[in-house]
Amino acid sequence: MIKRLIPLILSLGLVLSACGPANGPQTTAAPAPATAAAGSETAPAAETTPEETHLQPEEGWQVVTIGGVEMLWDGYKVKEPDVRLDIDAMHFSDFGEDFFTETYPVETESYRLCEGEIMETEVVHIKAAEPGPVIYVVAGVHGDEIAAWYAGRLLRSVTLKTGELYVVAPANTNGAKNHTRYVTGTQDLNRSFPGSPEGNEAERIANAIYRDIERVQPYMVFDLHEAIVYTSGRDFLGSTLIFTVLGDIDDLYFDMLFATQDGEICSNDFTSSGPGPKGSINNTVANELGIPAITVETFRGFPIERRVHDQLDIVQYALKYVGMR
Ligand SMILES: [Zn+2]
Repeated sequence: MIKRLIPLILSLGLVLSACGPANGPQTTAAPAPATAAAGSETAPAAETTPEETHLQPEEGWQVVTIGGVEMLWDGYKVKEPDVRLDIDAMHFSDFGEDFFTETYPVETESYRLCEGEIMETEVVHIKAAEPGPVIYVVAGVHGDEIAAWYAGRLLRSVTLKTGELYVVAPANTNGAKNHTRYVTGTQDLNRSFPGSPEGNEAERIANAIYRDIERVQPYMVFDLHEAIVYTSGRDFLGSTLIFTVLGDIDDLYFDMLFATQDGEICSNDFTSSGPGPKGSINNTVANELGIPAITVETFRGFPIERRVHDQLDIVQYALKYVGMR
């Protein structure tokens, strides 16, 4: 247990930026001008790469190397690389050879939440022939965090040896359609839990998801997100696992975290953070329903394939860990 506490203690000092500029540390620094970017003494990035640069600095952006990948950075957030994936033509094998290769007989049904409204979304319920643990995956609470809900879309076709999987992807349908964090306006779904049937759009879909989780009573919830903020001087690459209360899943959580750090899963080390902010699904299901949740944050500066890979790797690890795969 002591071995497990060390990285946790190290990571608890992190400010939970919870995947978006709206929540991240504020900065008053103006973006570095393009002419001063590469090699500038004032450039605050951890690593600038003037000689080996393949990317060219653009106005307001400088080239930095984070996690071995060159990307553009405005002093606060990174520029997301172009995404050329077709959401309707993706397969697990596009992201790795070892994802969900065995198939098992399952029954699949689906139902809708907030039907007829702009927030309408679908829950896919996959049930194995053998009983077992139940895991509920909420992907894409923020619509612009696409690797999260792309992974969720793929997870809707998982088959299981035992147990049941519920998948909502994207949880924020309107945000996904408009490539925005918010449900509408500046309504942040991940500050709207547990929500209310009489509330605004974010509160209504939050409540529908919350009530569905309450009805299902899963063993745990996965909450799939992405981060775009990079701040120098912090060991935060956006590759983060977040929890509020672990309860029965503490072995799973720490073994998963160490599996990223040992190189067993994912493209780089993940760090641990928490608790989830007030109004987040992570915090709310843990504290109000007593159901542990793990939020997964991949980093939007990396190529989309790497991000979807890491999301799938983490969920697959959990499904294997509890015997569902
Ligand atoms: Zn998010």
